[in-house]
Amino acid sequence: MKFQLFQLDSSTGFLDRNGCLHMAEELISRVRASGQPLAVLWLDLDRFRQINESFGHLGGDNVIALISKRIRDKLGNRAEIGHVGADEFVCLVPSAGLAEAERFADELMRIIEPEVDLGGLRYRPTASIGIAMLGPDDDAFVLLERADRAKIAAKRQGGNCHVVSGTEPLPGLMGSMLVREELEIENKLHIALEGGGLQLHYQPIIGPGGKIQAVEALMRCSSNGENISPVKFIPVAEKTGLIVRLGEWSLLQGARFARHMSNMGLPTKTAINVSRSQLVNAKFSQALHAALICANVQPDLIELELTESLFMDISDTVQNNLREARDLGIGLAIDDFGTGYSCLANLKDIPATKLKLDRAFVIVLPEDRRAMAVVKAMTQLGKELGMIVVAEGAETEAQVDALTEAGVDYIQGYFYAKPMDEVALVSWLRERNKL
Ligand code: C2E
Ligand code: MG
Ligand code: MG
Repeated sequence: MKFQLFQLDSSTGFLDRNGCLHMAEELISRVRASGQPLAVLWLDLDRFRQINESFGHLGGDNVIALISKRIRDKLGNRAEIGHVGADEFVCLVPSAGLAEAERFADELMRIIEPEVDLGGLRYRPTASIGIAMLGPDDDAFVLLERADRAKIAAKRQGGNCHVVSGTEPLPGLMGSMLVREELEIENKLHIALEGGGLQLHYQPIIGPGGKIQAVEALMRCSSNGENISPVKFIPVAEKTGLIVRLGEWSLLQGARFARHMSNMGLPTKTAINVSRSQLVNAKFSQALHAALICANVQPDLIELELTESLFMDISDTVQNNLREARDLGIGLAIDDFGTGYSCLANLKDIPATKLKLDRAFVIVLPEDRRAMAVVKAMTQLGKELGMIVVAEGAETEAQVDALTEAGVDYIQGYFYAKPMDEVALVSWLRERNKL
């Protein structure tokens, strides 16, 4: 890591490297308590070495002083700013979700870009920016390191751009193996999408008295007789954008299934997983309408499961899509609640009808009393917000008992049933109805 070559911080009022670390620690404990996101942007000026080499350190100092002033004047009140290397700045932006952090990066670019006159020669500053969002396991050091590494990736891409940590290409053999595996999965997904290798399986969600309240539709993909786990193919689909087509397929198939069940006299609410990439698109509502019309299904038999990370940063488009779905009478469930980046401030504004507690809290029950306390608190929160609370991943009777004691309304998990194909589900339901 580089260190400052000269003392500018006294004049800019910016934090130094250690100051940044301490400030990041302080902000992390603050945002963890409030559930807010935290973004770190690491900015490195492009071609600054040439400025130093051509105009001497004094020339370089002047450029830095000017750019520091631009950043401080325009953004000083919205971020904690550090000057952590000759031409490197760090912005710690509390409460900023990813979309806002990316907007912040664009703003930084615009602020620094006006030309600087260097004795008749003009330098047009650009920068490489790395963005890291605070993750559940990050401490201040790791968070800053991730932003630094993302910045290096932005440099490698030629500068004048930003890279978000976690999306940078992995270097080396390990990286190329992963890229290769991802490419193979992507190919298989294309083939499955076109050639009938996709299927939905359904897992029951059980309410009081053992009554089936709904089923969750879970996508399955097979290629040449080999099943690929959703844990592997969903992230690849997200990365490549294929998730939008897969998601539309899922919506239509899930809606058809609901219609079919209703025709058979077994009306079953069907929860369909929807990805963030689908919801940020203004055309999502159209796709939803199309699926409902095509399947000719009552909207109240459909529910959408939305992952919690969506709510870090809700754009107007997402809000509109969610509102339109609700207006149609479609239920909305917040999936995997508790482990992501839930922003409690946003939670109250989401028109959700269900809160699904993540499996991570359930697997440690009933022994882990602290997890039990968290489950109770989340359940109460969900109920106070008028939502039905569902727990996922109950595998044992003891877990079901603990969840019932915690006040959870519905339970989903292997204890009752694993996800199964449509035929198996129908016989499972018929068997159960006989009881
Ligand atoms: P999810 O939506 O949270 O779905 C619940 C996952 O937990 C499913 O994994 C389910 O099989 C698993 N599960 C349920 N009960 C138990 C249990 O008692 N023990 C254990 N060990 N696992 C249990 P699955 O089917 O592998 O799906 C993984 C994830 O993939 C889903 O998590 C969802 O985020 C995503 N996914 C699946 N289908 C779709 C889809 O059609 N669209 C989108 N966007 N994502 C999907
Ligand atoms: Mg789900
Ligand atoms: Mg889930």
